[in-house]
Amino acid sequence: MCKACKSLFQFLNWFSAPNSYILQTKVYHTAKRLKTRFAPTPSGYLHLGNALSFAITWALARQQNGLILLRIDDLDTDRFRTEYLQDIFDTLHFLGLDWDEGPVDGDDYTRNYTQHTRLKTYQALLDVLVSKGLAYACTCSRKEFADGLHSKECSEKKLPLTTPEAAWRIRLPESLIINVHDLRWGACKVHLTDTMPDFVLRGKNELPAYQVASLCDDIYYGINTIVRGQDLLPSTAAQTFLATQAGLHYQVAFLHHPLAYEAAGTKLSKSHGSLSICEMRKAGATTKDIWNMIARLAGWHHVDITCAKDFLHYFRVDLLPGQLSSVPQLSRGTIY
Ligand SMILES: [Zn+2]
Repeated sequence: MCKACKSLFQFLNWFSAPNSYILQTKVYHTAKRLKTRFAPTPSGYLHLGNALSFAITWALARQQNGLILLRIDDLDTDRFRTEYLQDIFDTLHFLGLDWDEGPVDGDDYTRNYTQHTRLKTYQALLDVLVSKGLAYACTCSRKEFADGLHSKECSEKKLPLTTPEAAWRIRLPESLIINVHDLRWGACKVHLTDTMPDFVLRGKNELPAYQVASLCDDIYYGINTIVRGQDLLPSTAAQTFLATQAGLHYQVAFLHHPLAYEAAGTKLSKSHGSLSICEMRKAGATTKDIWNMIARLAGWHHVDITCAKDFLHYFRVDLLPGQLSSVPQLSRGTIY
């Protein structure tokens, strides 16, 4: 057995899902090496849920001798702040999580890796979608869209794409179901028309939307394994659909991990002011404390995880719980 096939065989065995690797088999025969990415957004300070996501991505890659890219999504110019960008580097260093490709610090990022340097690539994908008649202009506000005032009529108005203050939306079929294969959960069906009806391709600010930029970047950097939260399952479906429509080569293994919740049942979220790692560090939390919390979040109470190496040693995809523990100790002022 050649070296590549041997590592493929080990990879498949390791996940021990005998019936569901037809797609992945193809991917890993052609991919030289697993390549994944951290893809944080500098739109808030990172919280424990982000740290767990990084830890899973890192362990998955390191166990397979894979590569990790640090990709930072900074197209949301309204929420971008330099201190959030710096927090990404600080948190990764604090946790002891390294990466192989991408910026070494904020300056390197701004000079060489910002998404604004790849606008032409995103536009090329938009051009293909437009040429296939899949994009239409919509002037609805976010509120109108949320209130259900946006309707199929918007797509039938056929406004010019050059209309000022118009977002570009994808024209989805009436009932579109996308099959996604997940390394942990196997085959998943996503009803894309219901979960993300006519999602935005280009914002009113004329910048490409997340689905477009993320897909382009993953292809641009040769990513073949994506780890993301379960809430992004519809995004996986959306990006798969875009890739198919544009005829792009997009063969990726996905792992959608459960999300972290606060005790009250709300999802940990930067925008909802969840307690950040930087805030916990200011309150005296050590690296060991944070890794302990990450392990407890994953429901691993019986193991002593105090650093990245411990997590790497213990981690297996099939040990990830269906739902993460909530973390009552995260309420402000009661951590220690
Ligand atoms: Zn509309």
